Amino acid sequence: MGSQNGSLYLPARPFPPRTLGLAVPWKRELSDAFTQPEKLLTNLGLDPALAAQAAARQFPFLVPRGFARLMTPGDPADPLLRQVLPIAAELEQHPGYIQDPVGDGQSRRATGLLQKYRGRALLLVTSACALHCRYCFRRHFPYGDALINDRDQAALTAIAADPGITEVVLSGGDPLMLDDERLAVLFDRLTAIAHVRRLRLHTRLPVVLPSRITPAFCSLLGGSRLRIAIVIHANHPRELSPQVRLALEAMKTAGATLLNQSVLLRGVNDDAASLADLSETLFDAGVLPYYLHLLDPVAGAAHFAVSLAEARAIMDRLRAEMPGYLVPKLVRELPGGACKEPIG
Ligand SMILES: *Cc1c(COP(=O)(O)O)cnc(C)c1O
Ligand code: SF4
Repeated sequence: MGSQNGSLYLPARPFPPRTLGLAVPWKRELSDAFTQPEKLLTNLGLDPALAAQAAARQFPFLVPRGFARLMTPGDPADPLLRQVLPIAAELEQHPGYIQDPVGDGQSRRATGLLQKYRGRALLLVTSACALHCRYCFRRHFPYGDALINDRDQAALTAIAADPGITEVVLSGGDPLMLDDERLAVLFDRLTAIAHVRRLRLHTRLPVVLPSRITPAFCSLLGGSRLRIAIVIHANHPRELSPQVRLALEAMKTAGATLLNQSVLLRGVNDDAASLADLSETLFDAGVLPYYLHLLDPVAGAAHFAVSLAEARAIMDRLRAEMPGYLVPKLVRELPGGACKEPIG
C-alpha cells in the first residue's frame, strides 16, 4: 500500500505523529503496531519461520497490538493470525488471480471517485489501513494518483453535478485513517450537496483499532443531516472484543446504522458454525450482517479461496440454523456488473 503522504484530501501532516506525548491514543496505538511478522509470531510462541519475508515485501505486514492480543498463543492455524500472516503460498501464481479483480480501473469517474452502481458513488480517501488483510482485493491497487486530494476537486464537483448520486461511500484504504478534522471537512462538503442523502463508511477500524472511535468522531456522526451507515468488516466472532463492542455501541448511540461485511475465507470462517457465531455476536453488538463476499481473485490470495459449491453448502446450513435477518447475503463482484452478484 502507498503511504498517506502527498495525495490526501487535505495537506499532509507527519503521520504517525512523532511526539508521542501529544498523540491521540489511536495514533499512538497505530505507531506501536507490529510491522514485522517474526515479532508477532515470537510473541505468540510460534516459529518465526512461518512467515515469508518475500510475501511481506510485496504487501507489507501491519497488525495493531490490540488485534494481536485476540489471537490464541501457540496456534499456527488461529483464524485471526491467518488473515494477516504473510506466507509462501502468496507467491504462487494461479490462473485467474490477477492484479485488479474487480475492475476498479474501469469505473473511475474522476480522481478518487469510482462509480459502478446506480445511485451510489465511492470516494477513495486514503490508501492507508490500520491492519493489512492478506486477501485484500486492493493489495495491488495503484493508489498513487487515484485518491481525492486538495489540488483536484473533480470528485466533489462530479458528485455535485450529478443529482443521480444520492449516496456517497467513503472507502480507501480505510476512511477512518483520516483524522477527525479531515473527516469533518469532508462531511461538510458532502452535506452541502443537497441531493446527497446518505453517507456510508466502509471501515475495518472499529474492529482492528477500536480506539479510533473517538467522541469527536461520534459527534460528527450525530451532527449531520445525512443518514449514516457504517459498514464494518469482521470475519470471525473472536474479532469482536469488549473494546470493539464499546466502539460499536458508541457509533450506534450517535445514530449510525451498523452493518457488517465479511469475506468467506478458507481456514478462517469457512464453516457454518463460525458464521452463525459471527452473526449472533454481531447482533448482540448492534450490528446486522450485510454481505458475505466470495473472495475476489486477487493475485496472492488463492489459498483463501472457497469454491462456489462449498459456499452454497455453507449458506444452506446457515439458513437452516438462523433467523433470516442474521444470514448475510452471499455475493461476488464481477467486473461490469450492475450490482454485486447475489449467489442464491
Ligand atoms: C461495493 C461497491 C458499492 C456498494 O455496493 P452496495 O451493493 O450498495 O453495498 C458502491 N460502489 C462501488 C464502486 C462498490 O465497489
Ligand atoms: S481493511 Fe479492507 S482495504 Fe484495508 S487491507 Fe483489509 S481488506 Fe484491504
